[in-house]
Amino acid sequence: MCELCRRSFLRGVAAFGAAAALPSPLLAQAPGPAGGAGRTASALPARGEFVIRNGFVLTMDPALGDLPRGAVHVRNGEIVAVGADVNAPGAEIIDATDMIVLPGLVETHWHMWNTLFRSFSGDEQAHGYFPTVARYGAVMTPDDMYQGARLAAAEAINAGMTTVHDWCHNIRSREHAERDIQALKEAGIRARFSYGWAQGQGDNDILNLKDIEALHAAWKDHANDGLITLGLGWRGKFRAGPLPENVYRPELEAARAMGIPVTVHIQSRKEPANQIAAHAKENLLGKDVQLVHAVWATPDELKMVKDAGATISIATTSDLRIGFGSPPVSDFLAAGVPCGVSVDTAALIGNASLFGVLRDVRDAENARTLNEFKLTARRVLELGTIEGARSMGIDDKVGSLKAGKRADIITVTTRALNMGAFLDPAHLLVGSALPQNVDTVVVDGRILKRSGKLVAVSEAQVVADARDTVEAIRKRANWR
Ligand SMILES: [Zn+2]
Repeated sequence: MCELCRRSFLRGVAAFGAAAALPSPLLAQAPGPAGGAGRTASALPARGEFVIRNGFVLTMDPALGDLPRGAVHVRNGEIVAVGADVNAPGAEIIDATDMIVLPGLVETHWHMWNTLFRSFSGDEQAHGYFPTVARYGAVMTPDDMYQGARLAAAEAINAGMTTVHDWCHNIRSREHAERDIQALKEAGIRARFSYGWAQGQGDNDILNLKDIEALHAAWKDHANDGLITLGLGWRGKFRAGPLPENVYRPELEAARAMGIPVTVHIQSRKEPANQIAAHAKENLLGKDVQLVHAVWATPDELKMVKDAGATISIATTSDLRIGFGSPPVSDFLAAGVPCGVSVDTAALIGNASLFGVLRDVRDAENARTLNEFKLTARRVLELGTIEGARSMGIDDKVGSLKAGKRADIITVTTRALNMGAFLDPAHLLVGSALPQNVDTVVVDGRILKRSGKLVAVSEAQVVADARDTVEAIRKRANWR
């Protein structure tokens, strides 16, 4: 699309958006949780007792395996039984005939705020991903952050993600962070919120550690009964160039003093090389550190990652789109490093379907290794569920369907043209499933999507608000 056509198209979209926004009230209005004064928020459904019956259950638990016709019993947010049948008198029945039942998908690195800029990364350097999000990010208000995270959280739930890692690298004030977290809270999704820098912040400028520490001290107000946790979005030793030690070291030490996990983009590009080794040498890796991308990690570096107990968040889809390369996923796995998969950013990958990302992870790795069988559908589905949970340190709570775990569960219909006919469930999910095939989504025992529709938010309102927000940001940024 030419630039002029694009602009008039966008103006048209904006006008349509303004009109469409008028008649669509929120479906379920209730006073927002703490921090939402003066705003309406979706009311989260109560946690009840129900049994999901008659589905093909992929427990993703090695002992329980697959149950071609199984049932999952949930009470007050917890899975109380999984089996061929369960005895649960009085529980509501959710019929999953012709559906695949599996743990909710676990996403491990996503700049949710910039979901607003979906499709905005242009075709030349000046309008690429980095300048685009930097320019828009610089003028964003706390409310804009809320809108970005709300759109992303709604999209996540719709697509069957029950856990996300909100990698927030546009924190311009404490309120920017709090409004972003509020959107996660209202959505009812399970999340880690990683507190990062602000777009445009110089590499010599340290994060506002006092703000992070204050947020950490008041975390019970944001945690949504333990669904949301806090982490540090760290720049590490390198961004465009090396960072000074008096920035990267006190930031990491502050996170370690608070006992919160750390995440860092690393070795996404070939140069500068040996970034992981440079961190290992200074003892900056550890069980608390998640490495994002690692596309150009060497075998020696993967051994360092494994020895340190660090994890990797794979971002194949965005790596392919932006030209970083194709991550050597089977080398990560052969080294024994716990891995999860990630959306990274909708501004690059378009839509946030984790099934699509899983397919890209498999297909790109098979292409890279010239081997149809290098990564199987079942293995990548593990990365999207139980192993992703392990990489986030939450596999004791979620990632598989097993009595005693929290109830993060999805069902995916096979009664759709793109899902017929159902033979192998893992191949079908990885190769064919789309967000609209996700019928039911349960997070911590709350049903947030049912019969293919979001329960606690109005999809039309979320999209209309996001459209208005983007238009206002574009005007303020006076760009594109
Ligand atoms: Zn990223």
